Amino acid sequence: MAQPIKNIVIIGGGTAGWMTAASLAKYVNQHATITLIESSDIATVGVGEATIPNIVQFNHNLGIDEVELIKATQATFKLGIQFENWTKTGGSFFHPFADYGLRIDNVDFHHYLQHANQLGGKHQLDEFSFACQLAQRGCFAQPHTHPSSPLADYAYAYHFDAGLYADFLKKFSKNLGVKHVIGTVEDVSLTADTGFIDYVTLTCGSQYHGDLFIDCSGFEGLLIEKALNTGYEDWSQWLLCDTAIAVQTTSTSEPDPFTRSIAQTAGWQWHIPLQHRTGNGYIFSRRHQSEEEAKALLLANIQGTPITTPRTIRFNPGRRKQIWNKNCIAIGLSSGFLEPLESTSISLIQTAIAKLLSFFPDMSFNPADIAEVNRLHNSELEQIRDFLIMHYTLTDKNDSPFWLDYQNIALPDGLSHKIALFKSRGHIAMYDNESFEPSSWLTFYRGYGITPKRIDPRAQAVPADVLQQRLMQMKQSIATAAQGALSHQAFISQHCLAEKE
Ligand SMILES: Cc1cc2nc3c(=O)[nH]c(=O)nc-3n(C[C@H](O)[C@H](O)[C@H](O)COP(=O)(O)OP(=O)(O)OC[C@H]3O[C@@H](n4cnc5c(N)ncnc54)[C@H](O)[C@@H]3O)c2cc1C
Repeated sequence: MAQPIKNIVIIGGGTAGWMTAASLAKYVNQHATITLIESSDIATVGVGEATIPNIVQFNHNLGIDEVELIKATQATFKLGIQFENWTKTGGSFFHPFADYGLRIDNVDFHHYLQHANQLGGKHQLDEFSFACQLAQRGCFAQPHTHPSSPLADYAYAYHFDAGLYADFLKKFSKNLGVKHVIGTVEDVSLTADTGFIDYVTLTCGSQYHGDLFIDCSGFEGLLIEKALNTGYEDWSQWLLCDTAIAVQTTSTSEPDPFTRSIAQTAGWQWHIPLQHRTGNGYIFSRRHQSEEEAKALLLANIQGTPITTPRTIRFNPGRRKQIWNKNCIAIGLSSGFLEPLESTSISLIQTAIAKLLSFFPDMSFNPADIAEVNRLHNSELEQIRDFLIMHYTLTDKNDSPFWLDYQNIALPDGLSHKIALFKSRGHIAMYDNESFEPSSWLTFYRGYGITPKRIDPRAQAVPADVLQQRLMQMKQSIATAAQGALSHQAFISQHCLAEKE
């Protein structure tokens, strides 16, 4: 029988490194020692403050108390993302972590909605989502506990201070026995026969041997790329943005319970409200706008006073060809990066950790396990990539060379197929390993004004008066519940910051 893994070495102490350390400490600490090495000379990327709902489960599984986490990381709640100026007419729409309405007789709700509007109704999709209604009012509530309630059909995530989150998990991991080493890896030694990583050498001369190495070293991919030459697949033909300028500001108003994404000349601007400050940034294409122009545009469009110097971060949208190569797994930016439009990067850290735990190796490093993790990760990433491409290509926005170029991009086949199905019959096709629900795709199809040519005949069979009455009742109950909700700030103050008696 193959020997178990006894010694795990993680390189990198950013969000990826500490999330991985915390999970391994929780689940495999009894069998293996875990050492995390981070450089004090190489900074973390310092962004990554908006999440998607699986972060709630991640922390919960670790046994972390939500209120404690919110206090420690200056977190706010996130119901979704408001997309502003993403259409030709400058309109805005909201992408909630939520369903719309309820399926009736196994037919998606949006078919009924379209039918009702064809009959003269004036219903908006977001009137049938409690999360959208909360967001519109700047309110927050936890999902209803009764699963069939329209007030239960949504999830939430957080905005948090990335540095504070890493610190929180550092403390958590060290309490569970993770060894923390401050030092810069200077050299990576491979075994002569297998090409596996044998040990790393720090600038101070110390050597750290490992059975399993986790590369959380950021964009550079110190182990997965520099040492193992795994290769990188460039996706810049589809994802044109390749640079970010980030700046933190003081807050000027109560925090929104959502991220704002504002389309700009050569990309989009983010606005992430935390309790103590606001994160801002502009993601743009260097091929379409100079860094100086981009910086000026960002600074002209922020509220509040800058409290940091604007920082430029360049990236190459794409993925590492394999996240697991020999005895090394890349987690976080070392595994690739698309762009932060839907805040998927921290979620990908989580799902990579989940795969590592499901296929946790022994010293035989079964090639089938490695191939499966790579297959699952690759298909997950391709679905996210297509979801992001759809944001840019489905819009009719054409007011600058950047947006015009997007109008002429050849779509991946799977994405063309999905869009064609929605346009023809309102069908929302889903592939394996999708990170986003059909309702997320619907948000953008409808947000960009796409109306299917045909709808499900079962929806058309419902008598007009019955249908209109049902929809009115549904949206009224949602609106009434939203009117009674606490403002986001009041919710945080009462439920998260108030001292317990
Ligand atoms: C502009 C931008 C915006 C983003 N926004 C979001 C968002 O809203 N939501 C989201 O989910 N994600 C977002 N991300 C992604 C998110 O920031 C990252 O996924 C997350 O921070 C994890 O980064 P990391 O830990 O992999 O790398 P890093 O933070 O870069 O950490 C790398 C670590 O490796 C260490 N290291 C490097 N080299 C060595 C060495 N030689 N020896 C020892 N240690 C070394 C460094 O010291 C550091 O501790 C964004 C990314 C960018 C670029």
